[in-house]
Amino acid sequence: MARYTGNVCRLCRREGYKLFLKGRRCESEKCAVDRRNVPPGMNIRARTRRLSDYGVHLREKQKVKRIYGVMERQFKRYFQLAERMKGNTGVNLMSILERRLDNVVDAAGMSLSRPHARQMISHGHFTVNGRKVDVASALVRPGDVVAPAAREKSRKMVEDCLTLNSDKSVPSWLQVDAGAKTVRILNLPAREDVRFQDIQEQFIVELCSK
Ligand code: SF4
Repeated sequence: MARYTGNVCRLCRREGYKLFLKGRRCESEKCAVDRRNVPPGMNIRARTRRLSDYGVHLREKQKVKRIYGVMERQFKRYFQLAERMKGNTGVNLMSILERRLDNVVDAAGMSLSRPHARQMISHGHFTVNGRKVDVASALVRPGDVVAPAAREKSRKMVEDCLTLNSDKSVPSWLQVDAGAKTVRILNLPAREDVRFQDIQEQFIVELCSK
């Protein structure tokens, strides 16, 4: 699956919003958004241009895609799935994105950042219900148990991350057992479980429904 491989801090500066793509660095004074919150590039006019309604809606969608590391085609698939589900499409969309395996690993503190979680998963360091899963976009379900693979290297990596992230708060839909190095999915994530509470998902629904 394609993914963005450039400078991720540029993405945050483009959105004028902290996307939290670099783990601990995002909370330090080295964060590029805190130091220089202007869009990247040389075009001064583009930096100060007022956004149209369409632009505001588009930026919201780009923000969400960049937070979760999802490209356009996969995002459309998630949106269609959210539309088919009962309830509010925007809330369903955020819930689906939260259920991605890379997000679960990161939210549980088993990685240094979401991109790091994605890399660890694709390198085969995780299992779901005892079976190896190397697809970062796999969606977890209530009752699933995510754990490091049996290899010593995988267990050590997860253990180190859990120790580093011991002060990190874990969303209530996940239950982390630091001793066993596992995370159990208790229920589907609700809107209030999404870390990015200020995302305007209704803008995305309006844009994608056109
Ligand atoms: Fe974004 Fe983190 Fe870079 Fe700050 S440090 S600009 S939040 S990726």
